Amino acid sequence: MSKTQLGFIGLGIMGKPMAINLHNAGYPLVVFDLAEEPLKELIGLGAERAASPADVTSQCSIVLTMLPNSPDVRAVVTGDDGILSTVGQGQIIIDMSSIAPLVSQNLSKELASKGAHMLDAPVSGGQEKAELGTLAFMVGGEQGIFDTCKPILDIMGGSVTRVGDIGAGQTTKLVNQAIVGVNIAIIAEAMSLGKKAGVDPEAIFNAIRGGLAASACLEDKAPRMFEGRFDPGFRINLHVKDLANVAETSRQLHVAMPLSSQVMEMMQAMLAAGHDDVDHGGLALYYEQVNGFSLKE
Ligand code: NAD
Repeated sequence: MSKTQLGFIGLGIMGKPMAINLHNAGYPLVVFDLAEEPLKELIGLGAERAASPADVTSQCSIVLTMLPNSPDVRAVVTGDDGILSTVGQGQIIIDMSSIAPLVSQNLSKELASKGAHMLDAPVSGGQEKAELGTLAFMVGGEQGIFDTCKPILDIMGGSVTRVGDIGAGQTTKLVNQAIVGVNIAIIAEAMSLGKKAGVDPEAIFNAIRGGLAASACLEDKAPRMFEGRFDPGFRINLHVKDLANVAETSRQLHVAMPLSSQVMEMMQAMLAAGHDDVDHGGLALYYEQVNGFSLKE
């Protein structure tokens, strides 16, 4: 049986390998991006090129988006030649970008006014997991729509979890990003103390990685800090974007989040110093600057 034709908008670091995995699983794709390079690659594999998000939506009952931030998703949905101009009854938009939950909820209402449904389905895991199809999806939206779309998300994800109604996926992603940001910062901070006290940070790492301080962040980021290896990975400018969405959401809800705000400011300092493109583990460079020594051997 032939598979449903899917629309895919946003073929960047994450979107391109995710789209390729759908293609490899036998889904015919209609694709759109502002950049020419990734479009060419997908078309080379047999995907069809669309002229605009509206064009994608006029050809596909399910459209996936993987875009940088809230204004980009808003532009693709509500802008000129956007999804809203052609979307109709029963169509489904799955937004996998990491954006502000309130924006997802508002866009969902606009789509619902045309009879269409939306899932917010951000992911955790970087480029490598996108390539392997092992991302962790956190999804918000109606149960029935989730059930319909789960087989598609399963192709790109190792775990696909519905966490609640629309916006709940984005809220979960904000929680994830706050935990990860603070975790990275304290790894760099505490390892700096160890090194200044004369203990080899790598020995500290080996001593504590099996204890309560163990974490996926410690496993991935500490060795990078010791090697001074900050190629992305997850770029620090994207993490600032996510922590800005954390701050905006916590301000609206009146929740105090002093730790994540502090980490956002430290990451801003990294951007000010010209380190936009480093991995978020490059937060170690902030400590290097203020303490005057590096965690690198
Ligand atoms: P990216 O910047 O590499 O890709 C975004 C793509 O969207 C680009 O190809 C860009 O040309 C396209 N685009 C932007 N505006 C557009 C528009 N109006 N119309 C059509 N195309 C448009 O970003 P990415 O790293 O792939 O990240 C995408 C999302 O996934 C972000 O929200 C990010 O926070 C999240 N995310 C990224 C990672 C990671 O490791 N990179 C991990 C988890 C989640």
